[in-house]
Amino acid sequence: MQFIDLKAQQARIRDDLRLRIDKVLDHGQYIMGPEVAELEAALAAYVGVDHCIGIANGTDAIQIALMALDIEPGDEIITSAFSFIAAAEVIALLRAVPVFVDIDPLTYNCTAEQIARAITPRTKAIIPVDLYGLVSDIDAIVEVAAQHGIPVIEDAAQSMGATYKGRRACSLGTIATTSFFPSKPLGGYGDGGACFTNDPELAARIRSIRIHGQRQRYYHDRIGVNGRLDTLQAAILLAKLPIFDEEVSLRAEVASRYDRLISSADFGRHDIRAPHIPEGYTSVYAQYTVRVPDRDRIIALLHQFGIPTAVHYPCALHRQEVFAGSNVADAGCPESDTAAAQVMSLPMHPYLAESDQIRIVEALSSAVRDVAA
Ligand SMILES: *Cc1c(COP(=O)(O)O)cnc(C)c1O
Repeated sequence: MQFIDLKAQQARIRDDLRLRIDKVLDHGQYIMGPEVAELEAALAAYVGVDHCIGIANGTDAIQIALMALDIEPGDEIITSAFSFIAAAEVIALLRAVPVFVDIDPLTYNCTAEQIARAITPRTKAIIPVDLYGLVSDIDAIVEVAAQHGIPVIEDAAQSMGATYKGRRACSLGTIATTSFFPSKPLGGYGDGGACFTNDPELAARIRSIRIHGQRQRYYHDRIGVNGRLDTLQAAILLAKLPIFDEEVSLRAEVASRYDRLISSADFGRHDIRAPHIPEGYTSVYAQYTVRVPDRDRIIALLHQFGIPTAVHYPCALHRQEVFAGSNVADAGCPESDTAAAQVMSLPMHPYLAESDQIRIVEALSSAVRDVAA
């Protein structure tokens, strides 16, 4: 059993992939070939924004978004304490200051209330993260941000395909960023990412920063980076896009089977809960994550049953050595610490068979009763 099965998907689209890749080999425009613009147009239409800009990876997409917003050294950027390091890392790389806020223990996302308390006159951007494929409560966050005139960058690396009050992830916030890392809901066969915005001025800046701050070839009017999406990755993503909606539904089916199996399983004196998806949201389940007691032992027991697991993430960002002494809002981030100690992700992909899910939940039930005994 695999944690994420990319082969099952590939078997479905192999012919299309070959056609798309062959086309690139024929025209030979490996950098900024026509597939990049084709993918950008398709994704902008899919998420429902005016501008999509293909980027080398999801981390660069956040960095370029911050650069487009003219973030300067010493500016404070608020982000979630419980996430992958990418946002915090590029904040620090630009010599700005990451300000970590705690999460809601049910959604694992940071909330408007926590963000409001962390805002200071130096706050220049807010980066909520759509963790595990569930969008943050972005309307409330944008409202708080707007009161202070602060832009919001939606880190939608895990949430492409998810919805929030009828709107799609990657369309929420001043700029949204995503990742096409192979294991993300829409993944390529290498690194890739994108920025999204409705603001034409920001879109133009992002396009320029992506390509060394060029105004025209070899004329530079700002400092940029080499942040382009490869033509081959764009071609691969174009082959995956036609089945993406179906895969999003399959993910939802897999998740609801897990929900049912978990709610009827016997966990002894422990209460293992399915992920909480608030009313008005759909998750794309980048991860299907539960909280377990004595996680190391549970993982070892599941491993004996041949069941792979992963931990997203074992150490909150404000606890990372690299951020020691950094700015933590209020009295720390206790919910992030608790989540980091308890969370465990189960195998999750669109092609996960019901029989495998039954095995997984049976093994989980037995492991949890075992550690409780
Ligand atoms: C994967 C991920 C990123 C970074 O994406 P890369 O394409 O790997 O650079 C950023 N933020 C979150 C929340 C992620 O999960």
